[in-house]
Amino acid sequence: MKDGKEDLTMDSSAEMFERALGVIPGGVNSPVRACDSVGGKPVFFREGHGSRLVDIDGREYVDVMGSWGPLILGHAHPDVVDAVCQAARSGTSFGACTAAEVELAELICSRFDSVEKVRLVSSGTEAAMSAVRLARGVTGRDEIIKFAGCYHGHADSFLISAGSGALTLGVPSSPGVPADLAKLTHLARFNDIENVRSIFEEAAGSIGALIVEPVAGNMGVVPPAEGFLGGLRELCDEHGALLIFDEVITGFRVSRGGAQERYDVSPDLTVMGKVVGGGLPVGGFGGPAKIMNQLAPEGPVYQAGTLSGNPLATAAGLATLKALAAEQVYEGLEASGEALAAGLEEAVSSCGLGARVQRVGSMMTLFFNEKQVENLDSLEGVRTDLYAKFYQGMLEGGVTLPPSQYEAFFVSTAHTAADIDKIISTAAGVLASLKDAEEAQETGKAEAS
Ligand SMILES: *Cc1c(COP(=O)(O)O)cnc(C)c1O
Repeated sequence: MKDGKEDLTMDSSAEMFERALGVIPGGVNSPVRACDSVGGKPVFFREGHGSRLVDIDGREYVDVMGSWGPLILGHAHPDVVDAVCQAARSGTSFGACTAAEVELAELICSRFDSVEKVRLVSSGTEAAMSAVRLARGVTGRDEIIKFAGCYHGHADSFLISAGSGALTLGVPSSPGVPADLAKLTHLARFNDIENVRSIFEEAAGSIGALIVEPVAGNMGVVPPAEGFLGGLRELCDEHGALLIFDEVITGFRVSRGGAQERYDVSPDLTVMGKVVGGGLPVGGFGGPAKIMNQLAPEGPVYQAGTLSGNPLATAAGLATLKALAAEQVYEGLEASGEALAAGLEEAVSSCGLGARVQRVGSMMTLFFNEKQVENLDSLEGVRTDLYAKFYQGMLEGGVTLPPSQYEAFFVSTAHTAADIDKIISTAAGVLASLKDAEEAQETGKAEAS
């Protein structure tokens, strides 16, 4: 927080938000950004460097939002910036073949054991949507299984009890999604293999694909229970369905080879996004050649994109993946993630609030929930009101968190030990004041009755 500037800050962002409301629905280009679930108005940002964000009034923050996941190297990493600038000077789009696309595809295939071929697209949504089309095309079956609380982008087939913005806004499904299409999506309970088994058995022979976030990140971070992913692999094999891992968040994040490497379970198709573009619009989906060759022009399943494999996006992706080549990078991310989680846990236990940290590598969520979160059902009593106050307190203290309880904090390679300490000490102060306010409220209630 900078001296006496906070009022001014709120004014400038509030003013800009007023203008935005006039010309953009809800003032934002993606719903959670409106900060509805944490109260208050969105802050407008001007620039980001390393672990820091700067708002339009020059207030600086330690950023734990990480642009929702892509910025594993932090903001404006010099390698990424140089690569993008160099690419831009040579032409921003050809709509034709370039060497960089081949290089990026080769790198992706070398990181994921299960991926022999990959098709690049421009967003995670596009990647997930295309992977499901391919799975339907290959199996000749229209029905799919997804998990309540998992998010796979906003394509029609997935907007059924989706996580993230859909959860926050309490819009588990959306008007405009045809009921006839929604019927083809079966909803399963995350971390409940018996539930998945019964869905497969009831829909015998009709399920073409099961799509899952191997570590759920869009109902907050929920790790897979022991044996859950392996169980999904077995059920898909048994019922002739393709197993799709949506590694848009976990890919290149929870280990160099994604969640499939970390948990040693091999999917049929892998969906990518976020880190793979290093902050530019890149997504991708890949798998064994025999499946991927079913895509046009080699096969009959159609999929295309004017800006797919775009030179700027490809350059950013390549620079990012190259910077993530060494195993030590992931050891560093793991250590930073562990340090942050440990500090937050200590702050939670010393203030005595009912909260817990759930973490996998450099992604974690501080849940204001008494019990462990295993799936959407465990979120019944979650104190989103406390998260909202926590978010606002952290913002005032100079730390930007995701503006929703159901999202992940992301640690990047740019976060120093001092950054982690700053996040923890700010959190400890905010949590202690939340606890005081809770107690005051309790006392107030007791006196009133
Ligand atoms: C963010 C996300 C998507 C969608 O990616 P976009 O680039 O926002 O379209 C899909 N799946 C998961 C798991 C995500 O977290």
